[in-house]
Amino acid sequence: MDNTGDFYSLNMGSIPVRRANKCECDEIGNHSRLKICRFRACRFESGHSHHTTHMDIMNERIREILIITQEEAGEVIQEIAKCFRFGIDGTHKSGIPHRLMLEQEVGDLMLMCDLLVEAGVLTQSGITEAKQRKRDKLHQWSNIFSD
Ligand SMILES: [Mg+2]
Repeated sequence: MDNTGDFYSLNMGSIPVRRANKCECDEIGNHSRLKICRFRACRFESGHSHHTTHMDIMNERIREILIITQEEAGEVIQEIAKCFRFGIDGTHKSGIPHRLMLEQEVGDLMLMCDLLVEAGVLTQSGITEAKQRKRDKLHQWSNIFSD
């Protein structure tokens, strides 16, 4: 990296880039007089890598939705384990039946899936197709529909 005056010379892959020292505006530099838009504000002054990572591209909202979806998927797994251990109609120490607790966690997870669609991470049509494919596989490879 060559720091000359108000600009850095960066080498982003095979493309030489000049970047403004401060990123108070909406760009991080220019290449052949074309503006290079920033992914995140002031990322460069913090001393972080100038290489764009997946986490730089993924905006914070989507990241948060994915993290909470991950948590909720884990809570569904945990509640299913409780249903096996104590019975689906067994009662949690709180007095709530495990069936209702499982219902709550499945609802939490389904909401997060809805939010992934609303955020444009997933598509409703893609999910619908995936559900049909899974149903077809279950017809073939499980006894769920054998009656
Ligand atoms: Mg939950």
